[in-house]
Amino acid sequence: MEPIVDLRLSVRDLHKKFGSVEVLRGVSIEARQGDVISLIGASGSGKSTFLRCINQLESSDAGEISVAGEHLDLVMRRGRRVARDARQLRRIRAKLGFVFQSFNLWSHMTVLENLIEGPVQVRGLRRDEAVALAQRLLDRVGLKGRESSYPGHLSGGQQQRVAIARTLAMEPEVMLFDEPTSALDPELVAEVLAVIRDLATEGRTMLLVTHEMAFARDVSTEVVFLHKGLVEERGAPAQIFSAPQSERLKQFLTHVR
Ligand code: ADP
Ligand code: MG
Repeated sequence: MEPIVDLRLSVRDLHKKFGSVEVLRGVSIEARQGDVISLIGASGSGKSTFLRCINQLESSDAGEISVAGEHLDLVMRRGRRVARDARQLRRIRAKLGFVFQSFNLWSHMTVLENLIEGPVQVRGLRRDEAVALAQRLLDRVGLKGRESSYPGHLSGGQQQRVAIARTLAMEPEVMLFDEPTSALDPELVAEVLAVIRDLATEGRTMLLVTHEMAFARDVSTEVVFLHKGLVEERGAPAQIFSAPQSERLKQFLTHVR
């Protein structure tokens, strides 16, 4: 077995219940540097919950999480499994960049302010450094010159590209995407996928929940099919999409195509 430090993200046997319903029943993934893991599955299969448990937006009931070789120390407190050390949780969260379906930009701030807030407040960059970084990243996502726009004046595709730039500005080790194009009008999907593809090409480590099967097939190093909180099948994209083994996966693929 390779040493754990090679892993950018390791999740072992994650379990999560909401009330009496077990929505994650032992899910594991391992991502090395540059891996792009796509998580697919029907609505309600537990994909979002899995991502949310990784960065502790949701508490899990059992299972182990490590980010960039650091094991997250979880303890039971008042019936919930939480981080033992708030500083460790902050450190680990800083290594995880989360991009949501709904963009989540600060609507009262300009694009530039959205981009420099985290680098200045959390990473401790000087304002001029943060501005330079923001400009580089805006260029990167094809939005050069939009610094003083407000999110409400941008299209959904532009807002999501700003959200991706904002996440990149925090220099995360691993990026987590939860259906980043699902809230977009169809004609805006491609521009966001192009940015994500670009990140995959440069060797970013990513965990991506998506319904864009052609895209998943194209960019992923591994595809994981979740069914009712369990990994029903996993493998290389060619295998998952061209030679699926499980009947449930075959069925799922006929519905999403
Ligand atoms: P997916 O992202 O694959 O569509 P989710 O992770 O959102 O699935 O949801 C998995 C299951 O957990 C669903 O049955 C959903 O209704 C349930 N669930 C999700 N969040 C909550 C919550 N906060 N409270 C109760 N049930 C929840
Ligand atoms: Mg979801």
